[in-house]
Amino acid sequence: MERPLSGLLPREIAAECGFDRPFRGTQVFKWIAAGAQSFQDMTNIPAPERESLSARFPSLLGTTVDGRFRDEDGTVKLRLRLPDGAAVETVLLTDIEGRKTACISTQVGCPMGCAFCKTGTLGFLRNLEAFEIVEQYLHLTRMFGRPSNLVFMGMGEPLLNLAQVRRSVEVLAHPEGIGLSLRKITISTCGLTEGIRDLADSGPHVRLAVSLTSAVEETRSGLMPVNRTRGLADLRDALEYYQGKTGDRITLEAVLIGGVNDRSEDIQAIADWSRPLKVQVNLIPWNPVPDLPFREPARRAVEDAVTLLESAGIPVTRRMRRGRGVLGACGQLGDTLRAPD
Ligand code: SAH
Ligand code: SF4
Repeated sequence: MERPLSGLLPREIAAECGFDRPFRGTQVFKWIAAGAQSFQDMTNIPAPERESLSARFPSLLGTTVDGRFRDEDGTVKLRLRLPDGAAVETVLLTDIEGRKTACISTQVGCPMGCAFCKTGTLGFLRNLEAFEIVEQYLHLTRMFGRPSNLVFMGMGEPLLNLAQVRRSVEVLAHPEGIGLSLRKITISTCGLTEGIRDLADSGPHVRLAVSLTSAVEETRSGLMPVNRTRGLADLRDALEYYQGKTGDRITLEAVLIGGVNDRSEDIQAIADWSRPLKVQVNLIPWNPVPDLPFREPARRAVEDAVTLLESAGIPVTRRMRRGRGVLGACGQLGDTLRAPD
């Protein structure tokens, strides 16, 4: 099969299609961004060229949607079938103002093994190619309208697949195509410090979120194996370096798990640890995952955490509990992947 064009930039499309006039690459790039399904849709490409390209690329996209799950709260989860038969999930979240956010996967499974995360229990199969990342956004747009925000918070660890994440951001942000603003894109990492430094040095200059979850060394190492090799001091150094270069406020995500990391001393540790940084904290009450030995935090514990952080002068947001009905909320992705077809 030909390499799908959806992960390529205009000049690369021109080369791949063998166009001698480069602007044809831009035309095709624009059509893909606009949701064209085949070369036959591309009315500004001369008919004979359209015919031969349609024969070479019978399908413009390399992935198909083969599962669709809708929650009562409007959250939608799609299962995408990839060219090699593997599958990933992608989620569309809609907030109360109607703003749509695409929650995009970067790997099939994840090797990081966080104890509280469904994706972590699946193990790791492979990195996604840029076209497989871009097409998640294209499918969501075609089916539900254009998401204004994109977060790399689906399955996988984006900083382990930085080359393809970079390429997909370049395609999605390109002004001749979808033209998504870099300020509307967020990369979330479990705390790979070398990747954070690389991002600070070489971009793209998108928003950064870090899954901190605990600022107590032992607790974090127990929940997130990454902390055993990149401990809290190293992580804070990397974030100070990132902030020194970009000046951006960093989002710290904290999954609150009942009786594990939701006591006041746990929250105080987060406030103390983040003091040298400009951050906001996003509290995410743990979303249940069948067979994992955790429980949700008490409502009171979440409220107390908000109060404590706010009185320490840290802006706090609470993640809405959306998508639970389709297991499409944070950390629940992966339940449909072993379902029979
Ligand atoms: N691998 C990246 C991005 C994907 S995970 C990362 O870890 O940051 C996206 C977010 O979901 C992370 O903040 C993670 O801590 C959170 N998460 C994982 N499992 C969860 C669960 N069961 N309930 C709530 N949040 C969870
Ligand atoms: Fe991977 Fe993120 Fe889940 Fe950890 S929380 S296992 S890094 S997807």
